[in-house]
Amino acid sequence: MQGTMLYGTRDVRFEDRPEPKITKPTDAIIRLSATCVCGSDLWPYRGIQATVEPTPMGHEYCGIVEEVGKQVRNIRPGQFAVGSFATSDNTCVICSDGYQSSCVQREWLSGAQAPFLRVPLADGTLVPTKDLPPKELIPSLLATSDVLGTGWFAADAANVKPGKTVLVVGDGAVGLLGALSAKQMGAERIIVMSRHASRQKLAREFGASDIVTERGDDGVARIKELTKGIGADSVLECVGTQESMMQAIQSTRPGGYVSYVGVPHGVELNGEQLFFAHVHLHGGPAPVRRYLPELIKLVLNEKINPGKVFDLTLPIDQVAEGYRAMDDRRAIKALLRP
Ligand SMILES: [Zn+2]
Repeated sequence: MQGTMLYGTRDVRFEDRPEPKITKPTDAIIRLSATCVCGSDLWPYRGIQATVEPTPMGHEYCGIVEEVGKQVRNIRPGQFAVGSFATSDNTCVICSDGYQSSCVQREWLSGAQAPFLRVPLADGTLVPTKDLPPKELIPSLLATSDVLGTGWFAADAANVKPGKTVLVVGDGAVGLLGALSAKQMGAERIIVMSRHASRQKLAREFGASDIVTERGDDGVARIKELTKGIGADSVLECVGTQESMMQAIQSTRPGGYVSYVGVPHGVELNGEQLFFAHVHLHGGPAPVRRYLPELIKLVLNEKINPGKVFDLTLPIDQVAEGYRAMDDRRAIKALLRP
C-alpha cells in the first residue's frame, strides 16, 4: 500500500509503505473509510516541532474492521468502528476515571493517513457501530475521532453548563467544534474569536452568538465589554500559543474555568498572574474515548453535523495538497479519501 510520510519541513510524501499486520493478539486492522489532516500535524509540517526521521502521519480514522488478533473480544471483522489517537485498554484506573488518553497502556497512534491502519488495544480503543453507517455520515463520524472529541473535551473541561457564557479562543476546526459542543451543552452565549469570514460563518452555524475580531489586550477588553466587565464563565483555549493562553486566562472571570486542548508550543505561565487570575485550569490530550459512544450517537441521530469542518476533500494520494491548503489557511480541515 501507499501511505503518508513527513520527511521534514513542508515535505510530505505519499509513498510505498508496508501493509500493517497484526503484531499483538490485542490488535485490529482497519480499512479506512476516511481520514484527514489535523491542526497538530501542522506543527511538525511547519518545522516548529522537529522531524528527526521520516514519520508516518495521521491519527484520525474510522473504517471497516478487516482483521482482529486472537484476544480481541468486542470488535469483529466487517464492523464499522471509530477510535482515538491515543490507544487505551479502557479498564485501568486512569481509563475508569475517564482519562483514556493517559491510559497506563497508552500508545500514540500514527500512520492513519493511509488505506489501512493497525490499531493496538482494539477492544478498549475502538467503538463499533451497530450497523454500517450511511456514506453521507462518514465525515461527521470521522470528526468524532479527534477534532470533535477534542472540542467536546474543551467544553466539558471548561465546565460549560446551561445558561453559561462561553468564550472560544481559536477558530481552527477544534475551536469551531468547541462552539458546537458548548451549544449542545446548553451554553446561553457563545463568543468565538475569529478574523476569517468563512470561519465566522461556520462558527455562527455551530451556535456562536458573538464574534470578536480583536486580539491581545484589545481582545481581552472586548470580552470584558461583552460580559459586564467580569469575563466569561468558561473559556476554551484551542490554539496552544503564549498569546492564546494569556488571552484565555485574562478573559475568564474569577472563579471561572479555562480549558486548553491545543498542544502548547512555548507557553509559560507566570505564577503570580495565575494566582490572582483565580481561575480553574484543566486541559491536556483529550480523552476522546470517553466521549465517543455519545458523540457517535449524536451523529447517527443527525443531531449534530461536525463533518462541516471539512471544507476540502481530496483523494488520499493528494495529501500534500491537504497540508498546503491548511498551512495557507485556505482550508479549515482537509478530508482524505483512501
Ligand atoms: Zn487504561
